[in-house]
Formats: sequence, C-alpha cells, structure tokens
Amino acid sequence: MVVDYRNVGIIAPALRKRYQWRHLVQLVVACVLVQLGQTRKSVSKRMQSLAPTELVALLEHASSENASPPGPHAPSVTVDESRALELAHEAVPLLAAGLADHFRRARAGQPLVHDAAMSHWLRAAMLRLASLYVLYGRPVQADGAHTLVANSTLPLREREWDLPVFDTPGFRFHGVRLLDPGTRLPTIECIDLARQTASELDLKEQQAFAQLESACDLFGSRGSEVYSALREFITRHPISSAAEQRRFLEAGNLQLAAPFLASCYEQVQPHHLVKGGLFRCATCGAPLIESTIDAHVSCTVRQCKAFESPVPRELARAVTLQDALIVKAHILVYWCGPGQDEIALYDTATTEPSGLDAALYPGRDRCDLSLDAEGTGIDVKSHANPFVLAASLNRSLGGLELYTTKVIAINDQALSRFPDYLDILRRECNRHDVEFTSVSALRRDLRARA
Ligand SMILES: [Zn+2]
Repeated sequence: MVVDYRNVGIIAPALRKRYQWRHLVQLVVACVLVQLGQTRKSVSKRMQSLAPTELVALLEHASSENASPPGPHAPSVTVDESRALELAHEAVPLLAAGLADHFRRARAGQPLVHDAAMSHWLRAAMLRLASLYVLYGRPVQADGAHTLVANSTLPLREREWDLPVFDTPGFRFHGVRLLDPGTRLPTIECIDLARQTASELDLKEQQAFAQLESACDLFGSRGSEVYSALREFITRHPISSAAEQRRFLEAGNLQLAAPFLASCYEQVQPHHLVKGGLFRCATCGAPLIESTIDAHVSCTVRQCKAFESPVPRELARAVTLQDALIVKAHILVYWCGPGQDEIALYDTATTEPSGLDAALYPGRDRCDLSLDAEGTGIDVKSHANPFVLAASLNRSLGGLELYTTKVIAINDQALSRFPDYLDILRRECNRHDVEFTSVSALRRDLRARA
C-alpha cells in the first residue's frame, strides 16, 4: 500500500531514503479518506503540500461531512470484514505469545521496555492491531507495549478495545482475556494460544511444573505417587501453615519435597488482607478479597462456585494471621483454580457409595483423574472460550491419548458464561473418540455408577 500511495503521489518522496512522521500521517489520513469513498487521485490532489496538522484537520472535516446528513443513510467507513477478521485472528495468538514471552522475561528480572529487544511476537501483534484501527478509521490504541499489556486484562470485545471486528460472529476469541485482571498473570487461554504460536517458548516453567518434576525425581520409583500427593495437598490448601505442611510431609514420608512445597507459598501480604483480616473462601479455600459490594468479600478463583457470589464480611471465615502461608499467585491461578473440579470429581468417585478405583494426576499428570485401574482418563478444562480449547485439543490430547476411554469435563462456571459451549466444542474438535461433558453431569454419572 505504501508503494502504491507513493506512486500516486499521496505520500511525498522519502527524505534521505527515510520516511518520517509527515509521511506516516499522509498514509494514515489517505487510508481513511479512501475508505470514506474518495478516489486516491483526489486525495492526492487535496493532500499536496499540507503539513501534518492540516492533514489531520482534513480528517475532522471529512468526518463532519459524513456526519452532516444524519439518519440511516449516513455513509460510514466500509471495511473489508474478511480482511479484518484475518488480521484479528493473527493478532490475538501473536499477542498471547508476546505476553507469555515477556512474562517469562519479567520472572527472570527483565522489565518490559518498548525497544528493539521487545518480543517479536508482541511487535507483530502490535502491527496487526494498528492495521485494524486504521482499517476502521479509529485512533490507534495499542501502539505502546505498556498500553497493550495493560489493555490485555480486558476481554476482547468492541466495548473495551474499540474494534468492531471483536464483536463479529466469526471472531473466535470474543470475550477472551489474555491477562488475569487481579494477578496480571497470563490466563489459561493465553498460555494455550502462546503454545500454539510459539512452540519454542518454555511455558511449563511458569506453571511451576519444572520444579515439581525435579522434586519428584528425588524420590526415584515413588516419583508418580509423590507427584499426585503434592499436587493434591497444594490444591486443597491455598492457605496453609508451616506446621500443617510439616505434618503432611512427615505422614507421607515426603520430607525431601519440603523445599519445593515451601517455594509454592509466601507469607501473608497486604493484598491478601481485607480490613486487616485474612478470610478463607468456604468453597475453594482461597483468600477472599474486598468485593465491589460494600462490606462484602469475594473469591478471585474463576472456577470457584463462589466467584460471582460475594458474601457479607461478618459471615466469612476468618483465618488466624499468625503462621499463615498463602499459595503464590501463579500456583493459585494454574493449579488451585483448575484443581477445584479435579478434587471434586476425585472425592465423588472415591467416597461411598461410589467407592471407585480412582487416581489423581496419575503417572505424573498423564491426565487429571483416572478410573478403573487406568482404563478411563478424565481431563477437566476451564477455558473461557470453546474455540481456543478445541484448537488446543486438535493439536494434542496430551497424556489422555493413552487411555481407552477419554473424557473431557468442562467447568460449570465456564459453561454458564458462554452460550452453546459444548456444542461448539463438539463441532470444532476433530477428535471423535473423546466424550465431552460438564463437571456436574460427570459427578452425577459417577454417583450413579455406585
Ligand atoms: Zn472460592
């Protein structure tokens, strides 16, 4: 387009082989005018020898010309919707990979700087988003790395991003959030999309899996059993204490894993407290935070049934601050949150009258839960968006592949937030040997097996 606009004279010749601010303004203004229906020739004529501020004034003039005949026939920017959709579908996975890359760098002590060393995925995402804003004739909003990162805590919708393509029916990532607004950690969707785009990114590390693996290696042939025990303890205890951890480690003869377990927790921090007190979610055990509703507290775990139901502070369970240890934010988001359903299914399967032969995280996480001496493998997913989940499953089922009966159970809160979730998943997933269900339906099924 630049070459084309240069040829018709819309863009002035480069100065000493370099394009400058003025050229960029010429390009952007011309794009908008052409989209408003003017010919490139007339645009070129009108733009000759105007300074950047005068060029921008042309736009204001053009938009008021457009707005002047009010009513349904007011001309609007015509956008090539399929091109916009294509750009948006490219931009989001690149953005996810860029965010995951910078998250990894930040954990290694490298702050985000908008310079040449910036992740090439983030840069590529930025270019595509800028193209989208220009396509729609809107002010570019994602032109700085820090603004873009801050915006990524918002769901991908037109209201938040000012990009109509995010609300079109064909947009697969509608409503997805790439960063968790509370903790600023990449969401499960973000990690999945990043993995899809940038297979070379080491994403396991950020989920603390690598440290757990090496802790289990210390136990030799007991490795798998230790893996299950540690994951289960952490998932059941978002708030713990040194004494409780010591008792657990001693009971299972797991003392070698003490440094790993300690590394998953931190002392109580100011952000864990509400009016000076520490409150525990009655459903999932995570620390509660101050709700937007006055004198109420609420749970931050999206997979928890209490997530959208704040409770009055005086009814919440207070925990003694002394000796309390809180699981670190990334462990809460990646292990404890998704683990709520895994534990609930495990408890349903193993409690009387069901009393099934079940194992949590068998074979170092081949799947979340196995039944019938490893005949059935169950994975629980809490992706907010069924398209992202289907794409991830189409790439690989992971360890679930090893089971004769393969079941994927979706978190009920995620299902209730996205219309026709299961239908979309069944349609988009190209695997026909997988059974898709909801966590609540699977629990009913397990009880009925008794
Ligand atoms: Zn909760």
